Amino acid sequence: MNPTELIIKKRDGKKLSKEEIHFFLTEYLRDNISEYQMSAMLMAILLKGMDFDETYWLTQEYISSGEVIKFANKNGRFIDKHSTGGVGDKVSIVLAPIAAECGLFVPMISGKGLGHTGGTLDKLESIPGFQTQIPLKRFKELVLQNRFAIISQSKEIVPADRRIYALRDVTGTVESIPLMTASIMSKKIASGIDGLVIDLKVGEGAFAKDLDTAKNLAESFSKIGAKFGKKVIILFTNMDSPLGSCVGNSVEIIECIDFLKGNYKEDLKEVTFALLTEMLLIGKIVKTKNQAEEMIMQTIKSGKALQRFAKFIELQGGNPGIVNDYSILGKAKYVLPIIAEKEGYVKDINSREIGWALIDVGAGRRKISDKIDYTAGLKLYKKIGDFVQKNEVLGELFYNNEEGERVADRIRNSYIISLEPVQKESRVLVWAP
Ligand code: URA
Repeated sequence: MNPTELIIKKRDGKKLSKEEIHFFLTEYLRDNISEYQMSAMLMAILLKGMDFDETYWLTQEYISSGEVIKFANKNGRFIDKHSTGGVGDKVSIVLAPIAAECGLFVPMISGKGLGHTGGTLDKLESIPGFQTQIPLKRFKELVLQNRFAIISQSKEIVPADRRIYALRDVTGTVESIPLMTASIMSKKIASGIDGLVIDLKVGEGAFAKDLDTAKNLAESFSKIGAKFGKKVIILFTNMDSPLGSCVGNSVEIIECIDFLKGNYKEDLKEVTFALLTEMLLIGKIVKTKNQAEEMIMQTIKSGKALQRFAKFIELQGGNPGIVNDYSILGKAKYVLPIIAEKEGYVKDINSREIGWALIDVGAGRRKISDKIDYTAGLKLYKKIGDFVQKNEVLGELFYNNEEGERVADRIRNSYIISLEPVQKESRVLVWAP
């Protein structure tokens, strides 16, 4: 088969066969198809789509590009959660230790930053020494020992997603239903879980900007999950403005530790608790939502979720001292306040703009080989609905390069301030069928 002919076939909107998808993926992984040919194919898929069969075959190829984990003596309690990606989305990092403390096992395979959104792995790698590339055998041991571990795609597990994910990040090919379905569902099916809760983000800072797109994406996740015999619960959550009070890498780790100490922004708590509740229900740890809420609260109040988080950092090679000493994470050289130009109520904070702006100070990648500046980031002091005075500080930008002033302007312009009072947002929109 000729890869160029297959690119043209998809470019012209035709259906690829199972054999053609198999050929394209396997030859790419053998380096017989180049990065630029794969990039062209990804763009053709983004523009022309794939039907259910093609999406299923693609997901199968992703899964069979590596190993599929099997946990012995499973008890229905291996439950994971995955997000479709957002700005300030640190939910996995706070949710996993709580879920583990409640009795679930969470074998989480995550990703790095994608497009304008941040990545769980980049945030974790901002912890000195922390390893996300861990041999599968060790990953399984860690999950059984501490009930959760978070690793990257690797040469052993979903290597197809490892390479294609990195390519999609820098080629404008993220917002595709079949590509997102194959990427997310392959990681989750390969990790040997019993059930999955998806945080399907909707809004300006999400890859699904509107509810119709979100519904199509949800349908694709559910159908592919069913085909592989996995129960998938989907929550739609609002991603118009950044989640929580920080965006970046080390700043978000600090926010996560504060969360586990019981100091949280309401919106981050709302999303995290809603997702955890679904996980505890499908893992049959609790019978009701009230029981779930009580149990989650208890793990935080008792300090046990934080202890489990510190253990997790230590087991994956990081310095657990960060839990008590944030200075270990380092600091950016420069800080710029984001100043309100007028008084009023915060009506909107455009999280997509903020995500792209922060890439310019190094919090994300412009090309695959870029190194992240972990200390670059943003703290938000005002959220939707808050009142601000003229010249009040809306947030602070932390950075080390020469782009600070320009990025600070872009961030300030992403705020809309209105004279009319604005309602606080609710983050959890609807439970998808
Ligand atoms: N998260 C993933 O793992 N893959 C995507 O395509 C989007 C979000």
